[in-house]
Amino acid sequence: MLMLLAAIAIVALFICAQSASFTVLAAADDVAAAEVQPIAVEPVDCAPSPVEEPATEEDSEEEAVAEAAAAGQAGVLSRLSEDLSGFNLNNTDPLVVALANFFAGYDGQFVFFGNWGNRRSGSFGRLMGLYGNDKYNTEILKHEHGHYEQYKQLGFWKYVFAIAIPSLTHDPATDYYSQLWEVTADVLGGVTSHRHTIGAEEAGLQYLDLIKNNNVLVSVLCCLIF
Ligand SMILES: [Zn+2]
Repeated sequence: MLMLLAAIAIVALFICAQSASFTVLAAADDVAAAEVQPIAVEPVDCAPSPVEEPATEEDSEEEAVAEAAAAGQAGVLSRLSEDLSGFNLNNTDPLVVALANFFAGYDGQFVFFGNWGNRRSGSFGRLMGLYGNDKYNTEILKHEHGHYEQYKQLGFWKYVFAIAIPSLTHDPATDYYSQLWEVTADVLGGVTSHRHTIGAEEAGLQYLDLIKNNNVLVSVLCCLIF
């Protein structure tokens, strides 16, 4: 009897196992069938669509630099416009010069500002160049304007030989404003803060008269002597 029951159980187990394996195989076949199903592909327009590349850090920096440059140019034009609209060649207020951006007028002179090699302000005829922050220094403005007054008295060539060349070639560390060609720029320009060596102003005025009342050759001679 036991043998019979065991045999029945074995047969039953065998049948169950076969059934399960058929199920697994059937499922596998379904998967395989699904995998080989042809996929219907609809025709598409093959023109490449524009692709936006993500902005890189380099792009952002370039844009920032370009924006800053544009803003800078706009600022320069705006300040230039301010100077042009407020320009008055016969202005006598040093504050107007100090507040200008690039240029201004001062008592008949065209005054411009900048930073150049020799770091010195200067004046020649109707032109005055103020270096760096000199435009804020009223005494320098007045001194340079005093050179224009010398120019008006002497004329072009006498001014070149008797004032301009000596002024450019003599740059003592001390007593700069007491020199013959400098001291009368202070006197005529109305400078009050520079201290001059005793007798320097009188000597300067004599020098100015000597140049003014003589031939230009005297100016050349003085230029060579000094
Ligand atoms: Zn000078």
